[in-house]
Amino acid sequence: MPITSFHPPHRTLMGPGPSDVHPRILEALGRPTIGHLDPLFVGMMDECKALLKYAFQTENALTLPVSAPGSAGMEACFVNLLERGDKAIVCVNGVFGTRMIENVVRCGAEAIRVDTDWGKPVDVAAVEAALKANPDAKVLAFVHAETSTGAVSDAEKLCQLAQQYDCLSIVDTVTSLGGVPLYVDKWGVDAVYSGTQKCLSCTPGISPVSFSDKAIAVIKSRKQPVQSWFLDMNLILGYWGEGGKRAYHHTAPINALYGLHESLVMLQEEGLEHAWARHRTMHNALAAGLNALGIEFVVDAEYRLPQLNSVWIPEGVDDAKVRAQLLEEFSLEIGAGLGDFAGKVWRIGLMGFSARAENVRLLISALAKAMQ
Ligand code: PLP
Repeated sequence: MPITSFHPPHRTLMGPGPSDVHPRILEALGRPTIGHLDPLFVGMMDECKALLKYAFQTENALTLPVSAPGSAGMEACFVNLLERGDKAIVCVNGVFGTRMIENVVRCGAEAIRVDTDWGKPVDVAAVEAALKANPDAKVLAFVHAETSTGAVSDAEKLCQLAQQYDCLSIVDTVTSLGGVPLYVDKWGVDAVYSGTQKCLSCTPGISPVSFSDKAIAVIKSRKQPVQSWFLDMNLILGYWGEGGKRAYHHTAPINALYGLHESLVMLQEEGLEHAWARHRTMHNALAAGLNALGIEFVVDAEYRLPQLNSVWIPEGVDDAKVRAQLLEEFSLEIGAGLGDFAGKVWRIGLMGFSARAENVRLLISALAKAMQ
């Protein structure tokens, strides 16, 4: 039997990402491919940078989409800012903080781990104690929106502490960008990375990043070269147009960038504040429906991410069976628990285009049926 074309079904994506991709973005992906050094494409790259600056709320010159998923954006921040023998304080309150530790260690640097219970925001007092105890730390790294738990941390306070103790901040905003307030310049973030497949509702595989002037100065004065050729910002800068130059570095994912451009145009049209408010409104509607079903949230209301709702699986309910029924009968995807939360928690995403009233209604009625 010859293998034939792949035609996936239409799903409603309400897990931890990817989220539903808006039809406008899907249409943009199918536009004619042109050369990546074509002046028209280069103009579009400049627009992507300008739109990303708006999304991140920054004037950082080094703001661009890395041609690889969020994990590569994470790696880009660590490999560029850390050298062998450096020290980084890493906050762990879920899976993605643990992944940051891996990055630090693979840079040949020392990771000072500050743990907070899963489901809670990063413990600011414990971070300050670690900064005091490690005056030689170069970096403070944390996840703004922990996708494994649904908790949001106080990024403004943590970045302020990093500045006070003369550290560079690295902030994971993969799940926060476009979903909750994020102010890169106002909060003094030094290096930030995100993903396209969450609240931007674009296809996965691109990682927007932004570096402050202070971070760029550190990157430019490194003693050792960045160990990753592909993620070396000194080289990527030339491709994304430092000083108007465009030197070949790699071939950009041309059509994927059309998709990102369209999603950022849509974010600009809606307005950041409106996008944040929409996520919050949909979260409130979802919470009311879940409450009526007797389902409880993992995270206290104060620290709850509207776009990632972690809930305890009720006693006696079969996790795998319910998720399989949602997929088969309603073509609806929700997320399983990760790490310590596997088998105990469902993760219900309301990200980007998924954060709309008909999705909330579908989820509540489908879940009510599947749990019978
Ligand atoms: N950081 C966080 C908080 C995430 O939620 C994810 C993905 O879910 C990542 C990093 C990694 O992103 P990607 O899967 O695009 O590599």
